[in-house]
Amino acid sequence: MKKFLSSVAMAVAVAACSPQSVTPESSTSSSEAAAPTMAEIKSGVDYHSLSNPGEMKVTHLDLDLTADFDAKRLKGSVTLTFDKLAADASELVLDTRELDIQSVSANGESLAFTLDEADPELGAALRIQVPDGINQVTVSYQTSPQASGVQWLTPAQTAGKQHPFLFTQAQAVHARSFIPLQDSPQVRVTYTAKIKTPEELLAVMSASNDPDTPRDGEYDFTMPQPIPSYLIALAIGDLQFKAMGERTGVYAEPALLDAAAEEFEDTESMLEVTEQTYGAYSWDRYDLLILPLSFPFGGMENPRLSFITPTVIAGDKSLVSLIAHELAHSWSGNTVTNATWRDLWLNEGFTTYLTYRIMEMVYGHDRYRKEAVLGYQDLTDDVAALPENDEILAIDLRGRNPDDVFSNIPYEKGALFLRELEQKVGRAEFDKFLVNYFQHFAFKSITTDEFVAYLDKTLLADHADKLDKARIQEWIFTPGIPAGAPVPTSDAFELIDQARSHFLAGEVPASSINTQSWTVHEWLYFLNNMPDALTDVQLAALDEAFNLTHSSNNEIAHSWLMIAVKNNYEPAYERLYSYLVSIGRNKLVKPLYQALSQTEEGKAFAKKAFEEAKPGYHPLTVKANEGFVE
Ligand SMILES: [Zn+2]
Repeated sequence: MKKFLSSVAMAVAVAACSPQSVTPESSTSSSEAAAPTMAEIKSGVDYHSLSNPGEMKVTHLDLDLTADFDAKRLKGSVTLTFDKLAADASELVLDTRELDIQSVSANGESLAFTLDEADPELGAALRIQVPDGINQVTVSYQTSPQASGVQWLTPAQTAGKQHPFLFTQAQAVHARSFIPLQDSPQVRVTYTAKIKTPEELLAVMSASNDPDTPRDGEYDFTMPQPIPSYLIALAIGDLQFKAMGERTGVYAEPALLDAAAEEFEDTESMLEVTEQTYGAYSWDRYDLLILPLSFPFGGMENPRLSFITPTVIAGDKSLVSLIAHELAHSWSGNTVTNATWRDLWLNEGFTTYLTYRIMEMVYGHDRYRKEAVLGYQDLTDDVAALPENDEILAIDLRGRNPDDVFSNIPYEKGALFLRELEQKVGRAEFDKFLVNYFQHFAFKSITTDEFVAYLDKTLLADHADKLDKARIQEWIFTPGIPAGAPVPTSDAFELIDQARSHFLAGEVPASSINTQSWTVHEWLYFLNNMPDALTDVQLAALDEAFNLTHSSNNEIAHSWLMIAVKNNYEPAYERLYSYLVSIGRNKLVKPLYQALSQTEEGKAFAKKAFEEAKPGYHPLTVKANEGFVE
């Protein structure tokens, strides 16, 4: 996924237990006081699933669902095939959240089941009594209109305004809100699905999609490779397909289709260079699905079909690192998967590292360096804002919602750690290691500890003279950025620093800054590093020279609106309002809500925008921001 939480905002309460209990015995961390208040974390235990894959493990799903747009419910059944791993096991336990379970059966006979009382974060365990000799059960159910993993959009909330739209978002633990299943990243399943929709709409899934399928309201899908539950995904809408290359294409509403295909036309090249460097692509086709503006994330790496926010269609390919990111997940995340949410950095750190490498291969070294500097600034912002417990790659998430783990720590700190390994052993050696790693753990879900053990046996054993075990432990198990980390730099940005300084000192008027060759990256670096307080004269001069209030680039607009809020720059507030009510991507709106909430006036403004936007926001965006307007 890319990225849900903003760089500054994740000031959530620290878990009730002490972070020190995370530190393994071999850690070199010495500065922390030992104050364990909770039991040691058990590596590989998924604290965010109530299911019992150790006893009975689900291996395959057959879905049969009808999308009822009037009732805002998915209705139908799932047949689960499972292996009995414990000889005396008699109960299959599944995760559910707000599901209406109608019946459970096997071979046409009803089975007894109970639904536990719901936990607010984890949902309710569904316990099915399984007679001997049975390895398949069918659960008939319907979803709640408020399902945390499903968003139902009215025609008005789509680009075309004519047809309704539905999309699911299962990561981290929301698959259980639309399928009763073992909702843990260490349970991998293959699946088939039969999806019924209104006749004029098209359904697509994280599975085999046939671009030429007749549009008749009934669609069949197969996912033959075992995937974790958080990668099961469905979208339904007035979707059209356009090919971008031999194996790549885009699904979008007709109004967005051509612009999207043009913006992302380099997807095929990205796929090719990634295969050349990291080994064959395992998933057949790689297509993109462009979602409505309410999609709460940048993208979601659903296999074979990444879900993408339309906010990155900028007209100049300036924000396409998002596509490189979702594509890279085909290797890191979808093929080799984090076993628990504590291990998320194995997905996101590797993917962020690969993203930089892909961008460098397709767009050159300078662009990579600029994007790396911006990523590093996001990381240092988070390190400044987050409690220490949340700055650890292998984070302790017990008792917390796993959605809380999506800060820049697993992404940018994880990538920086891998960058350091690369620099120490050399790029060629590190690439070789990655190819082997992806192959060794293909279609497996692994823990941080398994990764460390593998690293020990491979890269560390081969380069004992260059790598240090204690240093690796420091990266993974202690807060902050280790001293001596490979901080990225960009010559291009040195010129931007000079331009900003001269403007702030009053030596050069805004209108005389030569911005002709600036890309989005220069603009973001220029704006993001402005001091918190600017004068009205400075703000007006910048806006007049560069028309920032009306920037058509959503990222530049975001950076400018942050400045506007901090300085209460009123000429930008009309745009700010329309920005907040039209975009649901949390990375773009959350920092604005948080900044507005710092003053009474700002809060009143934010409340008004939030109330208007709320019916169109995804449940996750509502949840992430409602606290700012209370
Ligand atoms: Zn990601």
